[in-house]
Amino acid sequence: MEVNLRCGLLGERLAHSYSPQLHAMLGSYGYALFEVPPEQLGVFLQSGSFDALNVTIPYKKSVIPYCAELSETAQKIGSVNTLLRRADGTLFGDNTDYDGFLWLLQRNGGILPGEHAVVLGDGGASKTVQTVLRSLGARVTVLSRRGERGFDALKEQTDAVLLVNATPVGMYPHNGERLIDLTGLPNCRCVLDLIYNPSRTRLLLDAEVRGISCENGLAMLVGQAKRAAELFTGTGIPDSRCEEILCKLNAQMQNLILIGMPGCGKSAVGRLLAERLQRPFFDADAEIERELGCDIPTFFAQYGENAFRTAETKVLERLGKGSGSVIATGGGCVMREENYPLLHQNGKIIWLRRPLDRLPKDGRPISQSTDLRALYAVRRPMYERFCDAAVDNCGTPEETVASILNEEVTR
Ligand code: NAP
Repeated sequence: MEVNLRCGLLGERLAHSYSPQLHAMLGSYGYALFEVPPEQLGVFLQSGSFDALNVTIPYKKSVIPYCAELSETAQKIGSVNTLLRRADGTLFGDNTDYDGFLWLLQRNGGILPGEHAVVLGDGGASKTVQTVLRSLGARVTVLSRRGERGFDALKEQTDAVLLVNATPVGMYPHNGERLIDLTGLPNCRCVLDLIYNPSRTRLLLDAEVRGISCENGLAMLVGQAKRAAELFTGTGIPDSRCEEILCKLNAQMQNLILIGMPGCGKSAVGRLLAERLQRPFFDADAEIERELGCDIPTFFAQYGENAFRTAETKVLERLGKGSGSVIATGGGCVMREENYPLLHQNGKIIWLRRPLDRLPKDGRPISQSTDLRALYAVRRPMYERFCDAAVDNCGTPEETVASILNEEVTR
């Protein structure tokens, strides 16, 4: 019976794992976290305290000697991320990261035999990616800092159609970092980054700008958990269930970011939206005032708009790195292009629209000193450029929050 199955995740430190949440969506078996220090690994594996396990860092290789048999995939990759206890008590090791990456690749058009793929990094995840790509008949070039070819050999890979990042470069908290420039790959039609925090690494943001199809590693995470769940229970799970789970996780992780003219209701709507979704709320202007140690009109009068915008970008950089929050921004944040990737990397950007004659001016230095119509004429194309969705805020904050939730902008 599935409910009586004792499954879980084995690792050394597991505080931030998504696995319990994922497996709760995939089946009704028990799923525990087993944090085991290296010196107790053997005793733990030989104990009868589990029926099936996922295995993560640092044990994907060290569990191999304890397995009576390995799947062909685990043998090829040289690592195990799933352990099944067989009827005779012995352990069978498999690697479902293979299935996870295969699903991610197939969602993005796959690769044909003979086509060329470049993989960045030569660690454990890279081995899985290479195994999948080679099993499909692709030609694979690995670039890494210690291997045969360094990252500067990218310029020799001009026929590559696929790029996969299998390094942690660009992962939280080092958002914005990247290893290579995509101009070196003129024929690239797809970029996959195994990182999923942030949702869009600098590499993926670059790919978007170039119109190259791209995706992060969350589907790989969901795909490997799905295959593990199938092995745990012996029951198939349709890919459509994985799509639903992926959609839910993506929505949970993304920030909901409100942009719009000063006084259009971003703070009131944002606060209420956060309350409804039980998410943290951040008001960028309040955060800036806290960092500056004075109110915005005083800072503006003393140092001018440019200094204020620099302080604003710093705050947006911090807030944009987080995930799962609601963020109300200042009306002029769209005037700095560099703020777009900071907000977009983890966020859905919602433009709140309100008629100009209903915008208050109190405490808003730019609104007081400028003709609002002229200001709107300049900013409107930028709101259009930044936003993923636009919602009118002409009724009560409750009505606007309902429209935001109804309009699927939170999915
Ligand atoms: P790993 O075994 O430690 O390998 C990391 C690779 O990245 C190595 O080749 C390493 O090079 C290289 N690297 C690390 N820092 C670098 C830097 N600053 N510059 C250049 N190269 C650097 O790690 P892994 O398990 O393969 O994981 C790699 C990435 O994939 C991580 O971000 C991980 O979160 C992600 N991942 C995602 C999934 C998923 O389901 N989406 C699954 C597995 C892994 P050296 O050998 O020279 O250090």
